[in-house]
Amino acid sequence: MRATFLGTAAARPTVGRNVTSIIVQREGDTLMFDCGEGTQRQMMRYGTGFSFGDIFFTHLHADHFLGVIGLLRTLGLQAREEPMDLWTPRGTEAILKQAVELGVERVPFEVRINGIDAGEKVARGGYDVVPFRVQHGGKAFGWAVVEHERLGRFNAQKARELGIPEGPLWGRLHHGQPVEVEGRVITPDDVVGEARPGRKLVISGDTRPCQATREIAEGADLLVHEATFGNDEAERAVHTGHSTAREAAEVAAAARVLRLVLTHFSPRYADDPRWLEKEARAVFPETAAAYDGMVVEVPFRAE
Ligand SMILES: [Zn+2]
Ligand SMILES: [Zn+2]
Repeated sequence: MRATFLGTAAARPTVGRNVTSIIVQREGDTLMFDCGEGTQRQMMRYGTGFSFGDIFFTHLHADHFLGVIGLLRTLGLQAREEPMDLWTPRGTEAILKQAVELGVERVPFEVRINGIDAGEKVARGGYDVVPFRVQHGGKAFGWAVVEHERLGRFNAQKARELGIPEGPLWGRLHHGQPVEVEGRVITPDDVVGEARPGRKLVISGDTRPCQATREIAEGADLLVHEATFGNDEAERAVHTGHSTAREAAEVAAAARVLRLVLTHFSPRYADDPRWLEKEARAVFPETAAAYDGMVVEVPFRAE
């Protein structure tokens, strides 16, 4: 699993940063989270490809969704035929519909606008995409990509030692069924290790530090948290429904995540967010500040 940051600025683009969008790729699936203005050009620049079928919106502030207008038209020019699913907090569908239908051309493929409630999940093979309610005024989500547990490791050497012929019997054991070999019953415990936890990636969206993020991010492999401001603007963060870098780090520490990546920087810090990184690292050392084009790999944990 891998996250590519297509835009890392809050509110408006700067010379060095575009507005918000993150691509998550996992075993051939590509998921987009938010689509700020200019996202399609960032996709070309950073080579994410255009074959994907879902955009998950955290909320419908302009810096998170205006890019969908142009992106859908470009996909239309590419003669796309597959449908596109847009996922947005329930009650905000009409705004997205206006954006999709803006202008005189029609998008030549099906665009499905799905309102969704916090806690409902979008189920996929091997993982779920789960929205959670955050504190940003109005209807705003964070999103978590949560992989299912993986099967335990199959010990091929042991299986051979036990005289189990390679083939369908191995598969049955691996999937938890006992098998019989020459009158002996062999149970999965004999050759299969414990189930291994899947990976979890959490994207906070725009928000104050909040309990919902702490809960869903518990033990996450990667937490992407907004850090619009530094300590110097802590009060402004409260009034505008955003977080400081330090507050993001406190969420990461409380949730015991493996790694924290900060994003969504106010233009005033955008040229050099290193000191936001520094403020966060004082609380949670495994912190990095995102930049446009940054790719973060999320490996399975070492066993
Ligand atoms: Zn924003
Ligand atoms: Zn916002």
